Amino acid sequence: MLRDDLGGSYDVNCGKPPQKVVSEQSSYLIDVSQADHSQSIWLYRTYHNSVVDGPGRRIVIQVAGCSIRCPGCYVPETHTRQNGRLVPISSIVDEIKQNIHEHDGVTILGGEPFDQPGPVAEIVYQLRRLGVHITVYSGNTIATLLKQGNANIHYILTHIDLLIDGPFIKSLTNNAGEYRGSQNQRLIFDSRLNNISSFQL
Ligand code: SF4
Repeated sequence: MLRDDLGGSYDVNCGKPPQKVVSEQSSYLIDVSQADHSQSIWLYRTYHNSVVDGPGRRIVIQVAGCSIRCPGCYVPETHTRQNGRLVPISSIVDEIKQNIHEHDGVTILGGEPFDQPGPVAEIVYQLRRLGVHITVYSGNTIATLLKQGNANIHYILTHIDLLIDGPFIKSLTNNAGEYRGSQNQRLIFDSRLNNISSFQL
């Protein structure tokens, strides 16, 4: 268990295309007061067959809650956790296991995934064991993430294949580039994450 390796997570609290449905799985609902936060996550929705959220065809985990609040964000409905549902991570992983054969990987976006570092680290840990290609979006820059000194954040950054970082900036949307919402956002591949110290402030 990741929790055993890194210690308990704490609960602190990117933007992508609206209205691409997929799975509304009400069976995911659990009682918030009974939740073990390292084993559950605030989820807005999952959707399948996305070809704009990372390389190839992807299953997308869109988390609920974003503390960044970029002006002009395309997905303001994801900003509040309560617009989503607190769901067991095991349910999400089961959904991925059942459908990954039709996809090239999984993307985690939001909302802001790094507002829930413990639960996202647990998902990354379980997807790595399955050999799944993982892309994560963040409205933070990688330098800002590293500055937090959080073990779960460090685990995520060093165990994913692609990070797309930086806030959405409305004035920079033209020719933003593949998978990105604005020109300032960067694609940071695993080889660079392996040299993570170069991103420290
Ligand atoms: S990080 Fe910015 S673009 Fe992403 S969900 Fe939050 S406000 Fe929207």
